[in-house]
Amino acid sequence: MQINKCITPYNRWIGRDDNKIEWIVLHYTANVGDTAKGNAEYFASRYFGSSAHFFVDEDEVWQSVELDDTAWHCGDNPPSKNGCTNRTSIGIEMCTSWKDGEYYIEPKVADRTVALVLELLKTYPNAKLCRHFDVTGKRCPMPWVDHPEEWEKFKERTDVTPMTQSERKEFDALKAKVATLAAKVAAGEEYDRTVTREVAGLRERVGTTWDKTDEMPEWMRPTVEKLVGLGYLKGDEKGDLALTTDLARALVVLDRAGGFAV
Ligand SMILES: [Zn+2]
Repeated sequence: MQINKCITPYNRWIGRDDNKIEWIVLHYTANVGDTAKGNAEYFASRYFGSSAHFFVDEDEVWQSVELDDTAWHCGDNPPSKNGCTNRTSIGIEMCTSWKDGEYYIEPKVADRTVALVLELLKTYPNAKLCRHFDVTGKRCPMPWVDHPEEWEKFKERTDVTPMTQSERKEFDALKAKVATLAAKVAAGEEYDRTVTREVAGLRERVGTTWDKTDEMPEWMRPTVEKLVGLGYLKGDEKGDLALTTDLARALVVLDRAGGFAV
């Protein structure tokens, strides 16, 4: 990803005093409609006694402090609540806007921050994510302290942990179940209700689901439309299908193999 640079000569320490990067700390700027570039230029203009490595807005990422150097964003003195300090962390400030009477992180800002975190995790695969709030108790980033479910969603999107053995086993078992169901469907048995129940169970296990056929990618839509047409897939009371990508993929393969021939 493109990372623009405007390194501050004032608001940082050179080096990390032999500490390793163990944390990535998320902040919000508490401004309305500010830009990443504007923040980086501001912190490069004179001494303020605070800083961050990165600023993110809807369109850009600007770096203000080199990763080998220490930015001043979450405090220096242990005990911090989770052990993270400026010396051991990378600080990311997200530009904010104002919506419905509170600070708001635009989806595009969150998307770009996810991309930045994933990029950083390539270099620092063991770095853990936290909010400024988790370090000091400060209400930052306010939208993710006041709405912790948004923070959970963000963490899920940056989770690159490989499947554990038990998750792999569960995943394989689910795949086998889908194959069994599909075979029964192909054999002409009535499976609409069972499929719906399986889909609901899968939805709980996996975050990303597809509810409406018009939101679905091209490769899965024709199969899903066919199964809805046949009454094999019914969805919940609102008609939301809650199909996981993996289940959709399995259904498409079966469809291509002639499993749902009419
Ligand atoms: Zn903060």
